[in-house]
Amino acid sequence: MNGSVALLPPAVLGVLGGGQLGRFFVLAALEMGYQTWVLDPDPMSPAGRIAHRHLCNNYDDPAALRAMAETCAAITTEFENVPATALAELSRALPVRPGDFAVGVCQDRIAEKKFFRSHDLPHSPCAFIKCASDISEAKKNADLLPGILKVARLGYDGKGQTSVTDWQEVASAFKSYDCPCVLEKKLPLERELSVILARSDDGSMVSYPVIENVHVNGILDSSMAPACLLEGEQSALATKMAGRIAEAINYCGVLAVELFVSGGQLFVNEMAPRPHNSGHHTLDACNISQYELQVRALCALGLPQPVQHYSSVMINLLGDLWYPNGVYQEPNWGVLLARPNDEAGNNIAAHLHLYGKDSARHGRKMGHFTLTDSNNAADGNSKALLARAKNLQRSLTGPAVVG
Ligand code: ADP
Ligand code: MG
Repeated sequence: MNGSVALLPPAVLGVLGGGQLGRFFVLAALEMGYQTWVLDPDPMSPAGRIAHRHLCNNYDDPAALRAMAETCAAITTEFENVPATALAELSRALPVRPGDFAVGVCQDRIAEKKFFRSHDLPHSPCAFIKCASDISEAKKNADLLPGILKVARLGYDGKGQTSVTDWQEVASAFKSYDCPCVLEKKLPLERELSVILARSDDGSMVSYPVIENVHVNGILDSSMAPACLLEGEQSALATKMAGRIAEAINYCGVLAVELFVSGGQLFVNEMAPRPHNSGHHTLDACNISQYELQVRALCALGLPQPVQHYSSVMINLLGDLWYPNGVYQEPNWGVLLARPNDEAGNNIAAHLHLYGKDSARHGRKMGHFTLTDSNNAADGNSKALLARAKNLQRSLTGPAVVG
C-alpha cells in the first residue's frame, strides 16, 4: 500500500478491540468527522457501543475481517492481544498501523526481550522458559532470583505473573501456567516511567513529557505527568530509548514504552503498540491527546508536537471502588464533579471519565479521573497533586454528599 496518502473524513476507520482505549480512539475519530467500526466479541464493549458499527465477532472471524477490509480505509488496534495474523491478513487490503510485525513483537514477551537484546536496550536479566529443561539451564544463572515468572503471551495488568524466590517455586509456577514463560529478575524499583510517542509512516516522531507511574498489585494505580524531577539526563534518555525502539521497528502509530529506574539506571520493561493507560491525562492536560495522535498517524496526517499545558495526576478507578464494604454502592461522583476548585481555591480542575462498562468487578478498569493544575505547567513536581488526588479518591466511597 502507498502509506503516504492522507485519509480524510468521512473515511471509515476500523479498530480491533473495543475497550476504553478503543472508546477514546473512536471519540477522537468521531470528533474529527471520521466513521468508525469496532471489532470486538463483547456485545457490551465500551468502544463498540459508540461506534458507527460494532462487529461483535472474534478477532480472527473471516467474514468480519472481510467486511472490514471492504469498508474501512485503515485499521488500527487498541490492545496487543489481537492475533497478529488477523492484522497481516487485513494489511493485504488496506493500511494497518501499527503493522502485524510490531504488534507481534509486543504481544510476546519472549520476542520482545529478544528485540531488546538485539538492540542493546537495557532490560532486567531474564531467561526464556519454554519447557522444564529450560529451568535447569536458567539455574546456572543464580542472578535471576528473586524473580517474576511471566507468561509470554496474553498477560496484562499483572495477570499471568508469579513472584518466585527459589527454583522450586519457579518449577511449580511454570507447571501451573503450562505455556512458554519469561523468568525475569525482580529489580528493586526506585520509580516507574512511561514514554508515549507517535510516529508516522514517513518517520516523523513526536512525544509527550515523561510520565511517572505507580502500580499496585501489578495494575496501574496512578500517573503523574510530567514525572517528578528526574535525575540528570534520565528524562531525555528515556525518550531517546523509546524513540530508538520506534525507529528500529519502523513503527507507525502511537507507541508506549514502560521503563524502570533501578540503581539510578533506566531499564526498558515492556512496550505497548497503542495509546497507554498512563497517557489518559493527555485528554485534559495537553494540546493534543494520544488518541488524536493515533487517528492522525493512522490517517497519514501531520503529527503536531504535543504540549502539556498543566501538570496532572491520573487515578484509575477500578471496580473495587463500587464495593467499599463488600456491598454495591455507586461512588459519590459529587466529590469530583460538584466542586469548582480544590479547597484552597487553587486552580485545580477534576475531570471524570467513566467508560460505560455495565458491571463493576474486582480489578476491572471502570474509569479514571485526572486532576490538572493550571498554576503549574511543568515543574516536574506533582507529588502534592498526587496527595490531593488520593484524598479525593478516598472520599469517593464516603457518605453521599454533593458539593
Ligand atoms: P503487564 O503486562 O501486566 O503490565 P509488566 O511486566 O509491566 O506486566 O508488570 C506489571 C508490574 O509489575 C510492573 O509495572 C512493575 O510494577 C512490576 N514488575 C514487573 N516486572 C518487574 C521486574 N522485573 N522487577 C520489578 N518489578 C516488576
Ligand atoms: Mg506493564
